[in-house]
Formats: sequence, structure tokens, C-alpha cells
Amino acid sequence: MNTKTQPKQRVQSFNPPEPIRGKDGASILGPRNPCREAENPDTIVSPATDHGSMGNMRWSFADSHMHLTPGGWGRQTTVRELPTSPEIAGVNMRLKAGGVRELHWHKAAEWAFMIKGRARITAIDQDGRTFQDDVGEGDLWYFAAGIPHSIQGIEGDGCEFLLVFDDGNFSEEETFLLSDWMAHTPKEVLAKNFGVPESAFARIPEKDLWIFQAEVPGPLAADRIAGAGPVPNTLSHRMMAQEPIRSSGGTVRITDSSVFPASKTIAAALVEVEPGGMREMHWHPNTDEWQYYISGEARMTVFASQNNARTFNFQAGDVGSVPFAMGHYIENIGDTTLRFLEVFRSDHYADVSLSQWLGFTPHELVRAHLNIDESVLAKISTPKKLVVGP
Ligand code: MN
Ligand code: MN
Repeated sequence: MNTKTQPKQRVQSFNPPEPIRGKDGASILGPRNPCREAENPDTIVSPATDHGSMGNMRWSFADSHMHLTPGGWGRQTTVRELPTSPEIAGVNMRLKAGGVRELHWHKAAEWAFMIKGRARITAIDQDGRTFQDDVGEGDLWYFAAGIPHSIQGIEGDGCEFLLVFDDGNFSEEETFLLSDWMAHTPKEVLAKNFGVPESAFARIPEKDLWIFQAEVPGPLAADRIAGAGPVPNTLSHRMMAQEPIRSSGGTVRITDSSVFPASKTIAAALVEVEPGGMREMHWHPNTDEWQYYISGEARMTVFASQNNARTFNFQAGDVGSVPFAMGHYIENIGDTTLRFLEVFRSDHYADVSLSQWLGFTPHELVRAHLNIDESVLAKISTPKKLVVGP
């Protein structure tokens, strides 16, 4: 059956908000996209505090081109999709069991978070030191720029993961592929390089593989190759094994080069916010923030100075960005746990908490600015909460 002729399923049950806030606004008379409007209630009816002409800071992987192959798929969110994120690009990739993201390297460093399933990853460094590991849900890996590597789905239904690159211009379609290089080198040169007859290369692929289907590999121990010894710092990290920072509203796990030394250019936090809770008002003194939403529903207002503030809604599979130094909060507006990743192009995680700043500043000075009572200032928690409860 030709699946292209099947009628597309459409969700009709959405009840989109009308752009009415008190006395302001009016109903929409013209064409509507009810699904998208229902996804973005704080865009249709923005908080009255929003103002100005700020760039877009939300993209959904659902709007990214899917590159389909026999071994799985990939889709990306780069500066071309989300122009407010020049420092970081993301790729969402799926590999079936046995499916291989072929041996390759690239100019950007690659950081990854395993969303579901398991994969075998391999790499070697410039001194021939080797790395092989099997990674599962919540595990990370990091391959520095130029380091050759591979990823293969193993067991059950394979895996799906998020890749983060320390360059917003990165493209998963422009990596250096083993098969691509071999196909573009004269066979007599291949023969001379490897010291074998030309006939050895009679059956190499004529074009690149990118993602292809192979046999599911055997046990990891059988795939270990000593090479010139192991890499000095492991290239994988068990993020979920870290004891989280717990607060009244949720948990935060912070992974930067202090706990994952190989990850020299990417720092991250995995944040869980319970319903009604909020990632507290803060900003980052070192770099842009790039977010990936794993589950739940959120809204974020970004404050950009000069009267500018804009609110965005997020759900699973969405990407958010916060340009350097801009103030923001992230509120769980759903009835399930909100889980998302904050990712930074930096060797270290850093944030400045609005509460801590006010709590640790002479109270008379703060009161002179805001006309709030000392009793309010006295209640401000000076140990950073990161996530506040409802
Ligand atoms: Mn890669
Ligand atoms: Mn932040």
C-alpha cells in the first residue's frame, strides 16, 4: 500500500486561546492554526509585561527536516533554524539496533545525552589511545573537535539521543565521513597508503553511508581494542548517577568539566521542576544558554534590557535559547514533572540568582530601589534554590 495516499490524521480537539487580555485584544476572525495556537498560549495572550521586538527563542524538532535512512534518522536545530543561538547547534538522532552513525569526525566538539535505549560508542585520539563504551539512558559522551568516532544502536529497539555541538553553524550533513573520503581518493592511492593491492578496495561504497544498517555487535569486551592504551579521560559520563541538588521545587544535576573532565567546551544541567514550581529568576555570567525539553510543559520569559521581554512556551522535543546574560525563569505550567537540559558552550556551569543577589546586597540599598518591606527581604533565601516550589 502506498502510505502517501493515506489521509493525514488531524487533531481537531484543540481549543485555542483567543487573543484577549482583559479589555485588550479581540477574537481572531481570519484563518487559524488551532494546534499551533494551543501550543503557544503565552504567544497568543502574552503577559502584559512582555514588550519590544525580540528575536525568536523557540524551535521545535517537529519542524526540522528529517533525514531518513535504513538504519535510523537524524534532524537538526542549528543557527539556520534558530538564529538566536549562534554558539550551539543540536541534532536529534535515532539508530535502530545495529544501525551505525558511520565513522566520522567534524570541526565542532560533540556532546551527547542518551534519551532512550543503548548505544556502543568508539573513538581514538591523536596519539592512538582508544575508547569504547556502551551508554544508556541519561548517559553523556564528549568527542573533542576533530576526534574520529562512531555510534551504533545495540539491543532491543536501538536508541535515540541528543547531540550538542559547540558551533551554531554546525551541520550533521557536512561531517567528514570515512566512506566519503575513501570514495573520493584514487584507488591506487588507497593501495599505496595501506600497502595492499588495489583490488582490496573493489567493493568500497561509491557514496557516503552516513547512517546505515549493520549487524548488532557482540559484547563490549570483544570490541575493546587496546591501541596505544586508553584515552587519559573517559569520554562518557553517567549523569543520572550524580546526586542531584534538591530543593522545594525539584532537582538539578550539573555536569561540567569539574565532574566530567573530558567535556572541555560544554557544560550542562539536567533540571526537573515539579508542577507549579519554577527554575528561579537568574542569568548566566559566562555564555548563551541552549535548552532541550524532554517532558512536561513550560513557559519562559526572557528579559533583554531596554524594556524588552518576551515569553515562550515549550513542550517535549522543543529547543529554547537564551542569549548571553539575559535574565530568565522557567515555570512548569503543566501537571507532570518538567524535565529539560540547559547546555552552555563553556568548561564550567555558572549562574547568578536574583534572590541571592538581593539577599546579599545591603537591604537599605535594595529597599531604596524597590520600595519593598524589610520583612520581604528578610524572607529571601540566600543559599541559591535553583528551583523554587509552588
Ligand atoms: Mn559526530
Ligand atoms: Mn538559565
